Amino acid sequence: MTRPRILVVGAGFAGVECVRRLERRLAVDEADVTLVTPFAYQLYLPLLPQVASGVLTPQSIAVSLRRSRKYRTRILPGGAIGVDLKAKVCVVRTITDQLVNEPYDYIVLAPGSVTRTFDIPGLTDHAYGLKTLAEAAYIRDHVIAQLDLADASDDPAERASRLQFVVVGGGYAGTETAACLQRLTHAAVKRYPRIDPALIKWHLIDIAPKLMPELGDKLGRSAQEILRRRGIDISLGVSIAKAGPEEVTFTDGRVVPTRTLIWTAGVVASPLIATLGAETVRGRLAVNAEMTLPGSDGVFALGDAAAVPDEAKGGEGAVCPPTAQHAMRQGKHVADNVIAALRGGPMYPYAHRDLGLVVDLGGKDAVSKPLGVELRGVPAQAVARGYHWSALRTNVAKTRVMTNWVLNALAGDDFVRTGFQARKEAKLKDFEFTDAYLTPEQVRSRVEGAGRAD
Ligand SMILES: Cc1cc2nc3c(=O)[nH]c(=O)nc-3n(C[C@H](O)[C@H](O)[C@H](O)COP(=O)(O)OP(=O)(O)OC[C@H]3O[C@@H](n4cnc5c(N)ncnc54)[C@H](O)[C@@H]3O)c2cc1C
Repeated sequence: MTRPRILVVGAGFAGVECVRRLERRLAVDEADVTLVTPFAYQLYLPLLPQVASGVLTPQSIAVSLRRSRKYRTRILPGGAIGVDLKAKVCVVRTITDQLVNEPYDYIVLAPGSVTRTFDIPGLTDHAYGLKTLAEAAYIRDHVIAQLDLADASDDPAERASRLQFVVVGGGYAGTETAACLQRLTHAAVKRYPRIDPALIKWHLIDIAPKLMPELGDKLGRSAQEILRRRGIDISLGVSIAKAGPEEVTFTDGRVVPTRTLIWTAGVVASPLIATLGAETVRGRLAVNAEMTLPGSDGVFALGDAAAVPDEAKGGEGAVCPPTAQHAMRQGKHVADNVIAALRGGPMYPYAHRDLGLVVDLGGKDAVSKPLGVELRGVPAQAVARGYHWSALRTNVAKTRVMTNWVLNALAGDDFVRTGFQARKEAKLKDFEFTDAYLTPEQVRSRVEGAGRAD
């Protein structure tokens, strides 16, 4: 008899927690588990701003999927580009560009999200996102390159555009990114005697009236004060009207000469979800509290890609926010529900009360709100780093991160531009592969075609 096939798509917070739980709780001969993932690691995204600013090396937040001999999941290296729910087949493009039809009995969709963009002229051509390790490494090199080139140039216009940096998005990702990178350029400029430090300007803008509203008024204001004191120009109620290679135009009419536009204005579910042709809630797959897709047999979805009802907020219309905190817990929970479905047992709804938020602004600056307690400065930083450190999955990753933090505290920042990604296409789609997906019709015809060929 063949064993039931469980296919997990995505090795992020949700997917990896799910797979590890399945490995622990299923008997070896009870089911075959396959994980589809383009990368050989789980990326610890909340620490990406620290990679972009060079505090952490990229490898330290890329947690290996093959760390233990106990891991027995089959890993399929590639990305899912379409799912045919009726035929129960997932189409995968492998890392060598082969298309594979992967049949399943149960599918767990955890492909996460991509950078959300809007129809703003020039945006997708000139903005950098911060959702992948490659983007973080690219931004770091790019920012240091601007200092190198400005230092070498005698043209005031070129210097002005190279030394201004714009970050769009006042959520925790954008705020941390602006804060950490400003710290880097502030420290770096001391090594560039030809650059006047006053020429370096960081702009953080958001269309919302507040930075990180989740923090509450008082703590949000504290974060704002810290950033303003450091010289970051914060503009609220403002977005981008137009982006070009050497300047951006804000919606309030200002034209800022810059060659660095970092776009962290929210996320949207992976384009994989649209290939299903199923109901969505603002792009996220509409699932129930058990994280199953109503009307489709054996389909589970979670994390940033799914609109999971937020039972802790009463369910009615509220969905869980796209955070690692939820994704990790949903991963464990969905594994239990998959096992229940497999064994014919009852499934349980997911419910989790938010534990709060930690925001690392670099150095000794931070604000945190664990379990509703408002913290600032060193205590907030200790909670922020302690939280992330304990959430890293392996001891090797924990050691790498701690070593990097200690080294950075003792030896300061370093400003090496690696050049690994120099002259590569660096648009959002080049990093996030958003144009790799099939349409629902293409999925169906590919799956039906393969069926006929058999
Ligand atoms: C800069 C930044 C800072 C953040 N800080 C925090 C924070 O402090 N606290 C917090 O709770 N949350 C934070 N978040 C949000 C958090 O990281 C996400 O909510 C979380 O990663 C979602 O988990 P996930 O498993 O759904 O998706 P992810 O962790 O993004 O994992 C998705 C995985 O699927 C893979 N994948 C994508 N497409 C496919 C495909 N087609 N086929 C196969 N695999 C695919 C991806 O490569 C990735 O490995 C931050 C996010 C960012 C970007």
